[in-house]
Amino acid sequence: MTHDMAYNLICSLYATFGRSAPSRSSAVVAVITERIASVPDNVAADIRRKLEELDSMPSNLGKAIIGAWETWQMENSRAVYRETCPVCDGGKGFEAYEKLEDGTVHHFFAPCPNCSIRRKGFRYLTPKQWKAQGVLCMPPGYPGGKLQFEYDYGITEPPADEARSFRNLRTLKLLMNRRTGYDRGYAMEDAGRAS
Ligand SMILES: [Zn+2]
Repeated sequence: MTHDMAYNLICSLYATFGRSAPSRSSAVVAVITERIASVPDNVAADIRRKLEELDSMPSNLGKAIIGAWETWQMENSRAVYRETCPVCDGGKGFEAYEKLEDGTVHHFFAPCPNCSIRRKGFRYLTPKQWKAQGVLCMPPGYPGGKLQFEYDYGITEPPADEARSFRNLRTLKLLMNRRTGYDRGYAMEDAGRAS
């Protein structure tokens, strides 16, 4: 958990039990934030709700937060919970493109060097290290996804009149509607109502 998130959590718990929170730079905050550093940010709200159910302020807040986090994990063992990897952002690797000597592009999935399970015959490099080898990797969370990335980097040619449509969900919907005739039905309905 980031320091900011942890401090917010501490403050709101102190407030819940009617106590004024220690200052951000105090020793008690430092001890708690260090202890809960491994708790993910995205469960902070759940942990807060759990601890707010208590009748009184736990005397050892760090321990209580860890306890709540352990309980959360037990209760949510089947939830789609994925601790985010700072290198691949949880995607466990990267779409990678290598230009071959004959001009064609070889596309492959490069496993994340930080969080993938190592297997024989695979290379585990960061996008930066791949770049040094002449391989282009799509950054995690690229807006528009793989297709857009391939268009943007000229790996795949977008159909001439559709290139820009994908940037905008509304135009994409219109395009799909036109293709499927979905909006024609609407148009007819509107025309019927107008007459
Ligand atoms: Zn990773």
